[in-house]
Amino acid sequence: MSINRFELVRESFSKKPAEPAVSGKKISEYFGELVFDRRTMQEYLDADTFQALTDCIEGGKPLDHMTADGVAKGMKIWAMEHGVTHVTHWFQPLTEGTAEKHDSLIEYDGKGGVIERLDGKSLAQQEPDASSFPSGGLRATFEARGYTAWDPTSPVFIQGDTLCIPTVFISYTGEALDYKTPLKRALKAVCEAALPICQLFDPSVKKVYSYLGWEQEYFLVDEDLYASRPDLMITGRTLMGHSSSKNQQLDDHYFAAIPTRVAAFMRDLEIQCYRLGIPLKTRHNEVAPNQFEIAPIFGETNLANDQNQILMNQMRYIARRHGFVVLFHEKPFAGVNGSGKHNNWSLGTDTGTPLFAPGKDAMGNLQFLTFFVNTLAAVQKHNALLKASIASATNAHRLGANEAPPAIISAFLGKTMTEVLRKLLTLPSDTSIEIAGKQSKKMGLVEIPEIFIDNTDRNRTSPFAFTGNRFEFRAVGASSNCAGAMTTLNAAVADQLCTFKADLDKELAKGKSLNIAVMDTLKPIIASIIDVVCFDGNGYLPEWHEEATRRGLDTCNSVPEMIKAFTTPQSVEMFTRTGVYTETELQARNEVKWETYVKKIQIESRVLVRMAINHIIPAVLEYKTALLKDVALTKEVFSDTSGCTGELETLAKISQYLEELRVGIVEMKNARKAANAIEDPYAKAVAYQEIAESLETLRRPIDKLEEIVDNKIWPLPKYRELLFIS
Ligand code: ADP
Ligand code: MG
Repeated sequence: MSINRFELVRESFSKKPAEPAVSGKKISEYFGELVFDRRTMQEYLDADTFQALTDCIEGGKPLDHMTADGVAKGMKIWAMEHGVTHVTHWFQPLTEGTAEKHDSLIEYDGKGGVIERLDGKSLAQQEPDASSFPSGGLRATFEARGYTAWDPTSPVFIQGDTLCIPTVFISYTGEALDYKTPLKRALKAVCEAALPICQLFDPSVKKVYSYLGWEQEYFLVDEDLYASRPDLMITGRTLMGHSSSKNQQLDDHYFAAIPTRVAAFMRDLEIQCYRLGIPLKTRHNEVAPNQFEIAPIFGETNLANDQNQILMNQMRYIARRHGFVVLFHEKPFAGVNGSGKHNNWSLGTDTGTPLFAPGKDAMGNLQFLTFFVNTLAAVQKHNALLKASIASATNAHRLGANEAPPAIISAFLGKTMTEVLRKLLTLPSDTSIEIAGKQSKKMGLVEIPEIFIDNTDRNRTSPFAFTGNRFEFRAVGASSNCAGAMTTLNAAVADQLCTFKADLDKELAKGKSLNIAVMDTLKPIIASIIDVVCFDGNGYLPEWHEEATRRGLDTCNSVPEMIKAFTTPQSVEMFTRTGVYTETELQARNEVKWETYVKKIQIESRVLVRMAINHIIPAVLEYKTALLKDVALTKEVFSDTSGCTGELETLAKISQYLEELRVGIVEMKNARKAANAIEDPYAKAVAYQEIAESLETLRRPIDKLEEIVDNKIWPLPKYRELLFIS
């Protein structure tokens, strides 16, 4: 445990009992034991119910009452064997994190006692009072009801004493009120759009899947220190704090040995995640001190996203048992790296063919190229929209901050694929794309390597990078729900694939063979993207901003403005064509986004002002008084102050910073007042953006004061304490 001035501010949570021991067991023995997965279903459901449920999961058939009752019966027995007493519909409203309302399983038995019951109806559908969740005006308060409905494609799981049923959350009029519903629509759209194309190459393909492998970055801080920082507690980030003498400049944290306390936390977390069926694979220190990353083996996108949400909940909870608080904020500390959540994304067929990896033969390579090029085309067409899909008040600290993706969405291809695309443009359409090394080199041959070795050493400045068998959407924020980005990306690609298929059909109708028709359709697309969205250079350089503007890419770096990309005619058309969002939903969601943006900054601004008034100014005055007394005493004893030049200089600085602070406080309060009077959500967000900028101005004198005021008096843990776990 670290020794610091703020220890034991509050009783540590670390005394909580540990989860059941699994020591001595192999991971494979307890993996998924808290999930009602296929294996468990088979064990606890009768054959007919199991078959009906499987049809529903795989074939998207609706769940009938009888099946639901049968499932509930088996599920209840399984859950009670694990000590479950409560059940909840678990959903993902448009807030950060998930929502759950627990109901116990008990019912009166009619004989004066109670029994545990779970029926199919309460498993399949519930009606939580939804009036307090953000809806962007979709539900007027008099029609407060929304309903949650079971998503059987994501397995039911147990958290503590509660059976959690993953659900979608919809208004009574059918609009999506959550992240899951549009994500599921987008996944359906991309699979339906990709399938007929895949079938041209392999008629045995019946289904296409979208895959997601997220990499979750996070910070850990000591919970005692956290409890002494109202800014961290309330806003998730430090609103003030002078940088530590040492932070990440020595590059000694990245991939270094994991500190013992942190390793113990990670182990506990991993065990619990394995029990919950989350296939965690990687853990390591990240770039900033106290920053870490965790990543699973990728999986089907809807499930992978649920698992990310479950993981985040588990992290919050388990960190406490180890005396830590986990921070998902994109920028908890100024001056060191922020946290992202890279979304590794790909498509693949039910026959096991990955669609973003080189194929087994020339046709396989052509299929790869088809999906590769169409993805890039979608990213180009919807680059502003993709940026909007990851834009938030908290992620704004990363975008364009020279440490994370710039606020311009471009795609990194790597040398090989760039060359392949350029070469294809110059060659006849019947050129076959071979795997390098398998054929002798000859003129006119386009080759791709079996494995993209050069893509492992990739450009970290790109927000959307091809990494050998997938694309990595790096601009996603650490605190966000992956569904926001994944819905937009899958929908955009689905729409582009539909356009491509229509064009391809025209070429095929001319009697061309498949490879020539595909190449003839792809070539104009390649020509239109290769010098626009494709960019392998350094995305942090100011030159790129100018170049991107010239190329016609969106370079807007204002979050309220970015959000508007959702309701442009082009986006509305794309989303309605793919059936992912209605125009009403898009407008409502934008309202929610602007409102959330405003509220976040409003809270930060209030916290900063109050901390300045209640914490900083009194502490500074105490030190100022001590200095004044020292000067007065010196004068009394020596009858002049010549021995106090240092103190006098410090006093002058203190007065100057205090004045700066007081002026800043008044200005900020006035700005808030003016912004609060604005009705229009977009205009209000724009006004709050200015306030966000002035938060930086207001912290400056505080950080300066921290440098000069007596350490014993300073009322807050400093960066040097917060950032180094011992
Ligand atoms: P790095 O830090 O080098 O980018 P990591 O190993 O931390 O890579 O994470 C890479 C993530 O990408 C993992 O979740 C991994 O399972 C996932 N991934 C690998 N291949 C694919 C794929 N074809 N589709 C989607 N995700 C993938
Ligand atoms: Mg990584």
